[in-house]
Amino acid sequence: MKVLKFGGSSVGSSESIKEVIEIIADYKSQNTHVAVVSSAMEGVTNKLLLIGEKASENDESYLDLLKEIELNHFKTIKELIKVKNQSQSLAYVKKMINEMEDLAHGIFLLKELSLRTTDLLLSFGERLSCYILVAYAKQQGLDAELLDAREMIKTDSRFGRGRVKISKTENNIQAYFNTHEHIQIITGFISSTNKNETTTLGRGGSDYTSSIFGAALGAEEIEIWTDVDGVLTTDPKHVKSAFSLEEMTYEEAMEMSHFGAKVIYPPTLQPAFQKKIPLRIRNTFNRNFPGTLITSLAESGDYLVKGISSIRDISLLNLQGSSMVGVAGVSSRLFGTLANNDINLILITQASSEHSICFALDPKDSSLAKIVIEKEFSREIESGKIDQVAIEEQMSIVAIIGENMANTPGISGKLFNALGKNGINVSAMAQGSSERNVSIVISKKDISKTLNTIHEVFFLSDIKTLNVFIIGVGLIGGTLINQITTHNKKLEKDHALKINIVGMTNSKKMIFDDEGLNLENWKENLFEKGETSSAEAFITKMAKLNLQNSVFVDCTSNPQVVSQYENILKHSISIATPNKLASSGDLGMFKKLKSLALKNDVKFVYETNVGAGLPVITTLNDLKNSGDKILKIEGVLSGTLSFIFNSFIEGIKFSEVVKSAKEKGFTEPDPRDDLNGMDVARKILILSREIGLDLSLKDVKINNILPQACIDATSVEAFFDELEKANDYFEQLRKNAEESGQVLRFIAKMENGKASVGLESVNQTNPFYGLDGSDNMISFTTDRYLERPLVIKGPGAGAEVTAAGVFAEIISISHFLG
Ligand code: ADP
Ligand code: ASP
Ligand code: MG
Repeated sequence: MKVLKFGGSSVGSSESIKEVIEIIADYKSQNTHVAVVSSAMEGVTNKLLLIGEKASENDESYLDLLKEIELNHFKTIKELIKVKNQSQSLAYVKKMINEMEDLAHGIFLLKELSLRTTDLLLSFGERLSCYILVAYAKQQGLDAELLDAREMIKTDSRFGRGRVKISKTENNIQAYFNTHEHIQIITGFISSTNKNETTTLGRGGSDYTSSIFGAALGAEEIEIWTDVDGVLTTDPKHVKSAFSLEEMTYEEAMEMSHFGAKVIYPPTLQPAFQKKIPLRIRNTFNRNFPGTLITSLAESGDYLVKGISSIRDISLLNLQGSSMVGVAGVSSRLFGTLANNDINLILITQASSEHSICFALDPKDSSLAKIVIEKEFSREIESGKIDQVAIEEQMSIVAIIGENMANTPGISGKLFNALGKNGINVSAMAQGSSERNVSIVISKKDISKTLNTIHEVFFLSDIKTLNVFIIGVGLIGGTLINQITTHNKKLEKDHALKINIVGMTNSKKMIFDDEGLNLENWKENLFEKGETSSAEAFITKMAKLNLQNSVFVDCTSNPQVVSQYENILKHSISIATPNKLASSGDLGMFKKLKSLALKNDVKFVYETNVGAGLPVITTLNDLKNSGDKILKIEGVLSGTLSFIFNSFIEGIKFSEVVKSAKEKGFTEPDPRDDLNGMDVARKILILSREIGLDLSLKDVKINNILPQACIDATSVEAFFDELEKANDYFEQLRKNAEESGQVLRFIAKMENGKASVGLESVNQTNPFYGLDGSDNMISFTTDRYLERPLVIKGPGAGAEVTAAGVFAEIISISHFLG
């Protein structure tokens, strides 16, 4: 004999009811005798509750809800039952609806709803669904019979969640089944008192019904058929990558369900466990999938934890006081008071200092708990020994569960490390001495992020997902997106890294997809489907999505975006950017950003600020961190100026060189923005700050190379006219250098704590002498690289290399996030 239980969604429509009856028929054809327990049709119990509530508030809209229930059941009957047999079923349903209406009308008149009446009202859900199941099963040739579980399951009179009188109930069930051989279709969830008043077993209680019957009948297995592939690593509604577990122990299942895995109602496990009856959770909509087997001998599996579950709504109460240590029996008085008031605690923590006891409970109990505790401790509160009870609302509990956790060090470390890196604050934690469960209390707004973060750490250690937000999708940002698109598959395969671009924006439009945007035709999508954007709106949305492993990539040169960095880091989101404004801007703010990144355990990186994709800042940090002392930094740090002076050779006029650089797109629209040395000054400033110098832009000495008339020219054309007039001046400079075997190079320098930029003549022994094209070159003279400096050389500008540099930083952030 097997007991099969079907949940609300399994009997939620005529299509799913057909599946259910096929499952039963399959067993019959295999000669397996079954008893069937069913819930109410999906959503019906909730509607019935609402009917009670509305009626008690004297709100007539309860009648509409009742009508919805009626229509839904009528529709199901019409779709399932042959026309000639429909009238009997329709009449029965109508009769039940009338009874419900009478009951609801009574509540409406009295404006009062007791738990006793609620239970009676709720019982109609299961009574209706089972009636329809029986009618359809008979039509399909099954010898089915309706069994109203109120006749079998006896409880005390705690309405809303009756306590089952096990031996009486088992006797009833055994006696009944001895004399009834047909397939029993049993109403889940409902029960009755000795006086035959209707009670219920608590929300989700049909699972429990099946286990009570399974245990009483000594079933070979209890199968709980639902709408997912068994018990998954965590709730698939929150975590898309959750996967199903082949097997687990009763204890693991108990912990998972007790801590919120709705897939099994917690009391269900007890009767099955006592009689060692295996439980199997299966999917009505994926019939051939074996589901999850729950036994006492289950394999513990390869992962450190078995599953993660969560309780979405809890309140956290804290009882504390400076002199609580000396107060006698605090715990026993506290828990005694709560128990006397039927208040259930979900989690308790007490610091060893005994200064405070913190506990989590259902929010509906929190105000009563506060009142009764403050009453119990009124004397101590009055005398200031104990403070008033503090309540934190809008909290959730997340628990990691599994037999493998026992005696395995490092689990909490792994857990808290990942939470910290994602800015998830833990308000309380508890670990049972069984070590089968570590529970944390977090803010409700972080629940999805927490589940995803923990799931990734414990189950997907092979694959790390980064959630990237790109602002500025012009040349560099656009190239970056294309590079990620091309390379993503390989990254996933070879490096177990998945980069999801979750959001992107230009100055007008923004689009998001929290599972990663489709990057094919991203430009068109942004243009066509994007919503109106602003830097602030983009960042606000990013923060609100609250995804784990988030990285913000700023490919703009917009100060408004930079002004948001502080806010972004505070949300524990890493920043990677080629934008130089923050790293070369106000020193105080820059330092603040660095320390915020440190404090929030995220990265703020800007390698591409100097030398584009060349590893300049990384190398500098490697030298510094390995104990080397940087004595001097010299560099040709501008691709444009590098090109201009490398091309300025005998026979070519300086103005022609600049013109040709502009035509090739190597310069800013106004070449003076390159020639004035500001960009180079920012870069040497960034490097100087990186080695710990507290410098600002004004401290960088800029040796101007342009004659005043060039600077004063009011347009680019006028500038070129003036530059032509200055050709002789530049030619003279070049000649002077040439005569002493030297060439002109625009060099940035940091030495003895001072930074400067300007034009210099260098001879053949100087590394900058041989530069060509638009290459950058940086030389570090250090204690260890004293005679021959460490030199980095290569293309220091261009969208491809800059984007590649940002890409590399994104990947390095993934390593940092562990
Ligand atoms: P039924 O109506 O069949 O009783 P429930 O809605 O009570 O179904 O329970 C099934 C739901 O439990 C799933 O749809 C899923 O969202 C939720 N759930 C939560 N945690 C888990 C988990 N670890 N594994 C499977 N399902 C889970
Ligand atoms: N129908 C009841 C409920 O919704 C019982 C159950 O589904 O298990 O809570
Ligand atoms: Mg359920």
